[in-house]
Amino acid sequence: MNKPTYRGRLAPTPTGDLHLGHARTFHQAWKRARDARGQILMRMEDLDRQRCKPEFTHHALADLSWLGLDWDDDICIQSQHPHRYLAAWQKLKNEGWIYPCTRSRKELRSLPLPDTQDEQDAEAIFPIEWRPPPGAEQAYDSPEGVTWRFRVPEGEVITFSDLRKGNISYIAGQDFGDFSLWRRDNIPAYELSVVVDDIAQGITEVVRGADLLRSTARQLLIYRALNATPPAWSHEPLVRDPQGVRLAKRFHSLSIRELRESGKTPEEVLALAYSHT
Ligand code: GLU
Repeated sequence: MNKPTYRGRLAPTPTGDLHLGHARTFHQAWKRARDARGQILMRMEDLDRQRCKPEFTHHALADLSWLGLDWDDDICIQSQHPHRYLAAWQKLKNEGWIYPCTRSRKELRSLPLPDTQDEQDAEAIFPIEWRPPPGAEQAYDSPEGVTWRFRVPEGEVITFSDLRKGNISYIAGQDFGDFSLWRRDNIPAYELSVVVDDIAQGITEVVRGADLLRSTARQLLIYRALNATPPAWSHEPLVRDPQGVRLAKRFHSLSIRELRESGKTPEEVLALAYSHT
């Protein structure tokens, strides 16, 4: 049988301007696809309507084009197909993988944070005693009104092979707990939406920042629950500023846009992105 065609994706979240870290990760994702003579798809992860702004969508597309990246097919805009996430929620709920969580923000804030190792996604472990009794989910016809969490298999070692980092393992229930799949404000959470779209778009390899390594372990549990084959993974090193602090777009530090406006060429911006690790 022929190997499936490589299909990668570029998946910005338009909550701010893209920075050097994005330049590097997206450039790698694009290059992996083009080197493999495969396809690269663009997906705008704009489900959080409060934080995502159309101007950042336009900026992201313009900045990435300016860097020399291109993409195939139409752009997938997450906010335009909410039914996809709802169908996945329904399946996971019907099969008992997820449960409604009515714990308050205050209760969640009282939980100790694990050692973060500077990953943006390290969050407090949700105590299993706080799970509702089995079957609580069956009373719901819609996800609205509560947070929905994935019931992780405590103690199971989740292992995957990463093209950059080698073999990676996390222990469910220790390194991460029951995570949110659907937010209380009725928005599908990142972990669910990204898996649903990577499956729907037939993505064969995910290239993204190393801050999402732990999320990959969570996402593998969702792939299993949805009976889907996961893609290959490549988690790219994070770009740091000269003080060694990881760049985040909320700090407006070294945005592609600013560098571009200051007269830098695309080649210079990419060289900077690859030199700041
Ligand atoms: N949208 C996410 C971000 O901008 C990336 C998600 C992913 O690549 O899985 O950080």
